[in-house]
Amino acid sequence: MSYPEILTAIAKEVRAEQGKGQVADYIPALARVPGDKFGIALATLDGQQFQLGDADEQFSIQSISKVFALALAYPKEGEQLWERVGMEPSGNPFNSLVQLEYEQGIPRNPFINAGALVITDLLVKHYPRPKAHLLDFIRELSGSYDVYYDHEVARSEREHGFTNAALVNFMKSHHNIKAPVDQVLDIYFHQCAVAMSCRELAQAFLLLANHGILPETGKRILSKSQAKRLNAIMLTCGFYDEAGEFAFCVGLPGKSGVGGGIVAVVPNKLAIAVWSPELNEHGNSQAGIKALELFTSYTGQSIF
Ligand code: GLN
Repeated sequence: MSYPEILTAIAKEVRAEQGKGQVADYIPALARVPGDKFGIALATLDGQQFQLGDADEQFSIQSISKVFALALAYPKEGEQLWERVGMEPSGNPFNSLVQLEYEQGIPRNPFINAGALVITDLLVKHYPRPKAHLLDFIRELSGSYDVYYDHEVARSEREHGFTNAALVNFMKSHHNIKAPVDQVLDIYFHQCAVAMSCRELAQAFLLLANHGILPETGKRILSKSQAKRLNAIMLTCGFYDEAGEFAFCVGLPGKSGVGGGIVAVVPNKLAIAVWSPELNEHGNSQAGIKALELFTSYTGQSIF
């Protein structure tokens, strides 16, 4: 089967999943998104693109942005980054407070909220205009200047961001946040509110399929070792307390967000992004996970 045939088959089969999950409703701006949206896009290292459905519609990437923030902070901070955030799966929901207290304010990994807040703190350390820099970086990776901050989503995140505020304050009390709490939260809420499409996401994640080099320009963004480590953390921590099941069913490094997006990487080959806003009980896209499971079954492409 060719890629267009595979995407068509997937879009047809995932229809059975729609209606089973729930659109994120913790902020009104996300609750309004129609649950029946479905987009899928694939970008290959040799420059081909395939897409179907709502693949050009921009949506809130939410926690997928944690990968971009880490890719921006890691080369600047180097290996000492791992003194402030761990590299172990948490086995807990993304916004859990529980482990942080046992572990003295050092989050388990950079893809749970607490860990991402530490990474945001590092962006403040290394970039004089972290918000602008992060957006420019995502635009560069995706090759699209249409990527933007949805300010309505960012405002809503702030209005309802009590748990994130608790996490960052708790880490501040353990001296694991250096910048002012309000500044870290403001940047974090904006990064969650980045809006982009499946097509832009698939293109941006080619970096991780290509060992840290942008395929179109040949520019190195991450060292080979850093790219390997980002993929490793996506595989083990990209889906919170469902990371094991995603590895089991899909077998690719990936990252999800509560906007219903998921991106996955086939090293040396391609990146694939899918969007369906209805989430399962772990906060991951119900139809999105099914779509990626079907993709690896149809193509036989997995890292295992
Ligand atoms: N904005 C959300 C939060 O911080 C992002 C969570 C997610 O996508 N898993 O709670």
